[in-house]
Amino acid sequence: MARKTIIAGNWKMNKTAAETAAVINELKGLVADVTDAEIVICPTFTSITAAVEAAAGSNVQIGAQNIAWAESGAFTGEISASMLKETGVTWVITGHSERRQYFAETDATVNARTKAALAAGLKVMVCIGETLEEREDEITNAVCEIQLRRGLKGISAEEMANIVIAYEPVWAIGTGKTATPEMAEETHAACRSVLTAMYGEEVAESVRIQYGGSMKAANSAQLVGQTNIDGGLVGGASLVAEDFTALIKNAL
Ligand code: PEP
Repeated sequence: MARKTIIAGNWKMNKTAAETAAVINELKGLVADVTDAEIVICPTFTSITAAVEAAAGSNVQIGAQNIAWAESGAFTGEISASMLKETGVTWVITGHSERRQYFAETDATVNARTKAALAAGLKVMVCIGETLEEREDEITNAVCEIQLRRGLKGISAEEMANIVIAYEPVWAIGTGKTATPEMAEETHAACRSVLTAMYGEEVAESVRIQYGGSMKAANSAQLVGQTNIDGGLVGGASLVAEDFTALIKNAL
């Protein structure tokens, strides 16, 4: 089954609302001719409204970088699914390694956040990936399997139509160190095998698995050219419209 490439920019804690609108206005012109890939930008919460307005009518979709598992109540600093829906976002990222590292995100909270997003009709990029120590201990596939099984626990085969997996080796995020296409492909294939065991072959073959970790214009073609790599989740190289456009177009 052909899986449509999906390339998303995770802007992390960068850009004001005005800066966000300016880059999206430039980006939407540059990628207007792209039909073979879904393009998503995930700005910081305070820039989402500006992003949705700037992207309206274009092929750039907007997502959030996190979502609360609860609908409302005493959860200081959190943003609920209905609040996000109201802004017009269609995607949300869960389980990013920076959330796991700095904000005590666990597979259980990733699972709860993912379910809240799905229940609200949002599509989700669920991030998984091993640390350098785990790779050196040769437990990469086991770590990814645990994160997949726990992160997707209770999520149905039908709901998997709204899930994208982002495999992001933690040691490659923001470091300039990219997994070689072969290394990444090996882990992507292992992740797809786990999805096959969980959901059967048809669902597993239809789920897109993005690579994330220092992807840029110079390496996107080789990475996305691998059989089981269906796109990218991109940090640094997504912040400048021309760079991100080159990354996207090279990958197609
Ligand atoms: C990310 O934030 O998900 C990421 C992959 O960052 P970078 O592309 O900068 O490594």
